[in-house]
Amino acid sequence: MIVTIDRSSCVSCGSCWDACPGFFEQNPDDTFSQIIEKFRQDGNIGTGTPPVDLEACAHDAADLCPVQIITIADS
Ligand code: SF4
Repeated sequence: MIVTIDRSSCVSCGSCWDACPGFFEQNPDDTFSQIIEKFRQDGNIGTGTPPVDLEACAHDAADLCPVQIITIADS
């Protein structure tokens, strides 16, 4: 499972890191959502793979995002 955040369109609402704090967090510099470092893919702050126990909340976060910029693909 690969999760991608289109960070350029993030409105920093906080829904994703509230719903899934083990996988998403707020970037302290630009305030947008990013993936927690240990789950990033190739060091990309906007793309990563959650462990199995965080897959459900990652889906919840994608559903809750008001601007629908979190996408989930099978890996
Ligand atoms: S839920 Fe969407 S808009 Fe809100 S902080 Fe997360 S990625 Fe950004």
